[in-house]
Amino acid sequence: MGKPSRTEIHALPMNVLVRIVNEWGDAPRAGSSMSGDPYPDASALKAESPETWSRFGPLDETTLIETANLVRPIFAATSAGECVERLNALMSQTGMTPAVAADDWTVREAWYVSRPDRELLANAVLSVLHHLRDEPDVRRLGSCDSDECVDVYVDQSPGGRRRYCCVTCQNRNRARAYRAARRAAVRN
Ligand SMILES: [Zn+2]
Repeated sequence: MGKPSRTEIHALPMNVLVRIVNEWGDAPRAGSSMSGDPYPDASALKAESPETWSRFGPLDETTLIETANLVRPIFAATSAGECVERLNALMSQTGMTPAVAADDWTVREAWYVSRPDRELLANAVLSVLHHLRDEPDVRRLGSCDSDECVDVYVDQSPGGRRRYCCVTCQNRNRARAYRAARRAAVRN
C-alpha cells in the first residue's frame, strides 16, 4: 500500500513574501499604476535567494499572482480576529497539516500539504505563522496608509508605529500633511 502523497512545506523569508504580494498582487500593482506592465521575472526572484527556492520547481506566474492575492488580506487585516480568520481559511484551503519529523537524532515540527498545487500558498501561510510566533502583534503586518498605495510591509521598527510601505510614501504623505497644515494656518 502506497503512502498518501504529501509534500513538506517550508517558510519563506518574510521579505520574499512581501515582495511576492507587492509585485504580483492585483491591488498593489493597480495602486502603483503597474497593472498594464509585465510581471517581474520569476526566475530573478529565484536567483536572488537560491536557498529559499532550492526545493522548488519552476515558479509559474499564475501561482504567484494567486498566492499574492490570497495572502494580501492577512497584511490588510484590521484586527487579530480578522487575521486569524483569514489564516485559518487559508490553512484549510491548502490542507496544511502539522506532524513531527526526524532528522538524524533530533525531532522537529514539520508541516505538510496534501495538494502540491497549493504548495506556494502553504509556504506563504507557514511564513506568516512563523513570523507571528516571534511577533504575535498583528499590527506589525501592515498595508501602506498612503492614499495611492496598498503595498504591504512587515514593521520591524523598535516602536512598532510604521504606517507606510517605504520612505517615498512616507515623505509624500508628510509633505501633503505639511501643505494641508499650512493652508489651514493661512485660513485662520
Ligand atoms: Zn506605499
